[in-house]
Amino acid sequence: MSSSDHSFFGDVLRHVDKAAQYTKHPPGLLEQIKQCNSVYRFEFPLRQPDGGVEVIAAWRVEHSHHKLPVKGGIRYSPDVNEDEVMALAALMTYKCAIVNVPFGGAKGGIRVDPRKYSADQMERLTRRYTHELAKKNFIGPGIDVPAPDYGTGEREMAWMVDTYIALNPGQLDALACVTGKPVTQGGISGRREATGRGLYYALREACSHESEMRRIGLSTGVEGKRVVVQGLGNVGFHAAKFCREGGAKIIAIAEREGAIYNENGLIEEDVFTFRKETGSLLNFGGATNIANTLDALELECEVLIPAALENQITDENADRIKARIILEGANGPTTPEAEAKLLAKNVLIIPDVFANAGGVTVSYFEWLKNLSHVRFGRMGKRYEESEDRRLLQAIEVATGHKFSDTQKLSFVHGAEELDLVNSGLEETMAVAYNEILEVRRSKQIPDLRTAAFLNALEKIALSYAELGIFP
Ligand code: NAD
Repeated sequence: MSSSDHSFFGDVLRHVDKAAQYTKHPPGLLEQIKQCNSVYRFEFPLRQPDGGVEVIAAWRVEHSHHKLPVKGGIRYSPDVNEDEVMALAALMTYKCAIVNVPFGGAKGGIRVDPRKYSADQMERLTRRYTHELAKKNFIGPGIDVPAPDYGTGEREMAWMVDTYIALNPGQLDALACVTGKPVTQGGISGRREATGRGLYYALREACSHESEMRRIGLSTGVEGKRVVVQGLGNVGFHAAKFCREGGAKIIAIAEREGAIYNENGLIEEDVFTFRKETGSLLNFGGATNIANTLDALELECEVLIPAALENQITDENADRIKARIILEGANGPTTPEAEAKLLAKNVLIIPDVFANAGGVTVSYFEWLKNLSHVRFGRMGKRYEESEDRRLLQAIEVATGHKFSDTQKLSFVHGAEELDLVNSGLEETMAVAYNEILEVRRSKQIPDLRTAAFLNALEKIALSYAELGIFP
């Protein structure tokens, strides 16, 4: 959690400054890139069931307008503060540049604990927040496009898009004002699991490089690697699922109330169901309880996936972390002080600014779908299948061999929306990882985070250089 004496935005600035040492850009330009362009802080009233009024604090920060719209999630948490939203908005700018998504960075937050409010209150709060954004031109398909983050999901995005449409009747592209919507309301297949799936692709790519794995004393491949996951929310759950399906073993899961450990492996779906039914993951069958949830981060394992909140791996616990790879699902889980200690121990940190970019990547696909008003795959699927059939027939004629119906069924396959989304996500993560690795090697940078920020800085600086500065 953010403590009052620790600046998350300050951490992001330090990462950028470290990367900037490898560039020759003028200090003024770097300063412009680093600062948040617009910080909108506002308060609004929420009526209580007893007729009283609660004043709610909220933010939307647009970090960089070098590409429009700007994009970033909305966080609901009692710990939301301006420094945190600024940091998260800034991370979005660099993240989009790294995965070649043509957006500037933004982030929003409301200081509430969603668990303490009824669904009706959450709906009124979300709609009022959207209205406040609309009043100041802080939302719109070509302006600023929110998405889910910690404490929000498809439900909130549906309320937001409905409110936006009500305020902008007849606007043809209105559905593109937020992403992460339910598929039935203009969302896209695969968005819900995109961040977790992207984390898996990031890990798989990192583990495929023999020389990189040798550097940290591991063999190649995800198979057999022991994984500890912190946070069983959207990101942690899906990261665990895809890593397990890719052959890794989830040996521990940490949540607010404590952690559980089983050296033979846990199935995240069973743990999730158990927690939903009992209100806690503790006492899950066959697993050992860990009372202090943070202790789970110090378990013997190959991969640690912090997927809850920022500031979890700190100066205090970094020395006791035994994982060889830290795959950052959350934004900002590792402080710069902790990172220095981990790098000294030769730990591979796959940084948030790249690793959890699967969400914004698939949000970009959703935005494209909304603007084109057609589902991916709708035009081509049947055509591709008829092409497959024609090819099979040609092979049959040429070889005299007849394919069985089962063989034909397995070969004839036109791409569905989900196939295309996953393929686009896989390509994006693989290309981005290799770009970062190339920067790291060519500039002889020891860590991936600095290389990732450098990669982003170069792209953003180029954008400023080409566009010039208005007026
Ligand atoms: P979420 O609300 O779905 O899940 C967060 C989970 O963390 C919850 O289950 C919560 O109980 C748990 N948690 C809270 N405090 C904890 C603690 N101290 N120890 C262990 N678990 C704790 O949120 P999410 O969308 O999964 O986001 C998690 C992180 O990933 C955030 O940092 C967010 O910014 C980042 N992220 C999310 C997305 C996305 O698409 N949702 C994309 C990129 C990055």
